[in-house]
Amino acid sequence: MQNAGNCSKNAAIFPHQIFPPYFCPKLITIAGSSNILSSPIEYLKGVGPQRAELLKKELQIFTFKDLLEHFPYRHIDKTKVNLIRDILPQTDFIQVAGRLTSLETIGEKRTRRLVAGIRDASGTLELVWFQGISWIEKMLQTGQLYRVYGRVSFFQGQPQISHPEIEPLNEQGNEGKNFLEPVYSTTEKLKARGLGGRQIAKLTHALFMLLHEKDLPENLPDHVLRSAQLIPRFRAFAHIHFPPTPEAYGQAVDRLKFEELFIAQLRMGLIKSRRHRFSKGVVFNQVGDLFNTFYEKYLPFTLTGAQKRVIREIRKDTGSGKQMNRLLQGDVGSGKTIVALLIMLLAADNGYQSCLMAPTEILAQQHFNSLSRLLKDLPIGIRLLTGSTRKAERRKVLEELSAGSLQLLVGTHAIVEDTVQFNNLGLAIVDEQHRFGVAQRARLWAKANIPPHVLVMTATPIPRTLAMTAYGDLDYSVMDELPPNRKPILTVHRYESARAQVMDFIRAEIDKRRQAYIIFPLIEESEKMDYENLMRGYENVKAWFPEPKFWISMVHGRQTNEVRETNMQRFKDHDTQIMVATTVIEVGVDVPNASVMVIESAEKFGLSQLHQLRGRVGRGSEKSFCILLTSNKLNNEARERLNTMCATNDGFKIAEKDLELRGPGDIEGTRQSGMLNFKLASIVQDKHWLDIAREMANRIIDTDPDLGSAENLRLKDYLQSLQGKTAWSKIS
Ligand code: ADP
Ligand code: MG
Repeated sequence: MQNAGNCSKNAAIFPHQIFPPYFCPKLITIAGSSNILSSPIEYLKGVGPQRAELLKKELQIFTFKDLLEHFPYRHIDKTKVNLIRDILPQTDFIQVAGRLTSLETIGEKRTRRLVAGIRDASGTLELVWFQGISWIEKMLQTGQLYRVYGRVSFFQGQPQISHPEIEPLNEQGNEGKNFLEPVYSTTEKLKARGLGGRQIAKLTHALFMLLHEKDLPENLPDHVLRSAQLIPRFRAFAHIHFPPTPEAYGQAVDRLKFEELFIAQLRMGLIKSRRHRFSKGVVFNQVGDLFNTFYEKYLPFTLTGAQKRVIREIRKDTGSGKQMNRLLQGDVGSGKTIVALLIMLLAADNGYQSCLMAPTEILAQQHFNSLSRLLKDLPIGIRLLTGSTRKAERRKVLEELSAGSLQLLVGTHAIVEDTVQFNNLGLAIVDEQHRFGVAQRARLWAKANIPPHVLVMTATPIPRTLAMTAYGDLDYSVMDELPPNRKPILTVHRYESARAQVMDFIRAEIDKRRQAYIIFPLIEESEKMDYENLMRGYENVKAWFPEPKFWISMVHGRQTNEVRETNMQRFKDHDTQIMVATTVIEVGVDVPNASVMVIESAEKFGLSQLHQLRGRVGRGSEKSFCILLTSNKLNNEARERLNTMCATNDGFKIAEKDLELRGPGDIEGTRQSGMLNFKLASIVQDKHWLDIAREMANRIIDTDPDLGSAENLRLKDYLQSLQGKTAWSKIS
């Protein structure tokens, strides 16, 4: 055979040939291609143009590399042959070997089935087929020895296997196959074209017959391999598909998970380190009149320890001459706004302009209102710019900005538009960061010769592990302290059937001159059903709380800004006692007199959203309440979310739970980070590896930040080969 050498070379890695030798494909050499893995998938023997189209469409497999990274989702362990006697109620897949004792078709029409009995030394097991009956019947012969594999189910208390894999054995009874067979995900369309799981296994095997170690060169330094006790890269790829033993599979997975986590940490850590070493940043080196006067005369409260600490951290950054890129995490209500304000005053004291961006008009407006109020007696200009800013006002804002007479600009993403030119932007603060796309943030950088300092404030905390991974290129501050005198919010779960009591409770709070929110779910702001639901809800609330004794504000996304603003303002001014709203109020609304938050259909909300909504109350010093109203039918996950809400007010704990329940991919704010799209690793389940990977990456960054030493050369080469795939340096 032409490439027999090739096959036997890899035999060391595949001690057990899975497919017969004739399957060993012809070596394909692609002219000019230094790396076989970038070959288009149609060049693999057994694929061809038509199957290639399907592989691309159905599984996004375009190249050899994509096939290589289409990992099996499990393996069938065919190394063991079980005894029929040993089948237990909890037995899942099983392989037995025995003689076929009976074979008959029973039942009529829909219940027609083929039933066979197989007997080994220990007992008898029933096999059943509902489809392909006549074909299978022809293939099987009573009295013959077979190897049978499949999932055990119980029918009338008796174990059976329906539609087992079955193949004849010779009389020597050489029963077990000696390897783990990979099982790949596939689709119905692919199956119809002869590309089921087994065929994909064949293709993958064919691919490995072509590969040499040099095609998958080691990328981790020896010292890392040694201290993390990892197997070499080529073997890891081979064994994740075709492991000789379960242990070998485990080692392969560990190696590749580690690689994902380590490379991600390293790339982000290097970005951070380069910024710390080489970036140029504007310098805020003096605390001036604006900051001092505000701090001494107008600060409405004493700062918490956490607020002071964060301000110190930011001052250190902004005075260093390097560009700051900092993530500020603080639970809802921890007082991030005042931190933002003080830093903006610091920038102004040093002659620089600042902007504060919020994700929605409502929030931008609210920031603008409260900042204007706080700054009204200070000689500093502040203006608002959003999508609905009137033309004349907009022109004025732009003029003052470029002339430099305006120091503070609050707005929505309207701020990043090209027409908005600053004179000397020194600081950009992004509130509730997760709503901003990466591209929008990058545009901020282009607004000054020296990129401005960037402070990103999250709305919902994310667990530390996740933050370190997703934002490893950022500096990181946490505000883990709430302002004093906050009474914890009492959270309860009530079923629909208790609605009357809930309404009575609201009435009692209103009698004490408090106010209440009633929130309705809005999955898609535009969805008609949600909207009608809200209207019905509003009518219902109105029936419980009739005018003129009670007045209700309603706020939702379909209103014009004016209507919405009027409704908000009336609630803030206590002209209305109840606000019926959708999640548009999720972020930022601040009405300290409100003491009750009722969330309708609470089971439809995610944990972080529930926590955000709850954060709208408990802002004053009165005791506050959050009531989660749900229907009587709840699934387990919803129940767990509700229990978590009732058990804790701590946003970080809630974030941990959210991560546990949903996984990182779904957590708001991490989706765009791109750093969590791991193929194998999970930052929840693989925390152990994450910690090791982070520690080792950090050690390398500390000791050899340019990866110049001989032992890290591989790593450098590998990172360079990844360059250009993502413009990491521009993110955040
Ligand atoms: P968030 O971090 O959710 O943006 P805010 O900045 O809106 O929180 O602050 C929440 C509330 O707490 C506001 O009413 C604010 O005035 C108040 N607040 C902030 N810091 C303090 C403090 N140190 N002492 C007392 N109240 C504070
Ligand atoms: Mg806020």
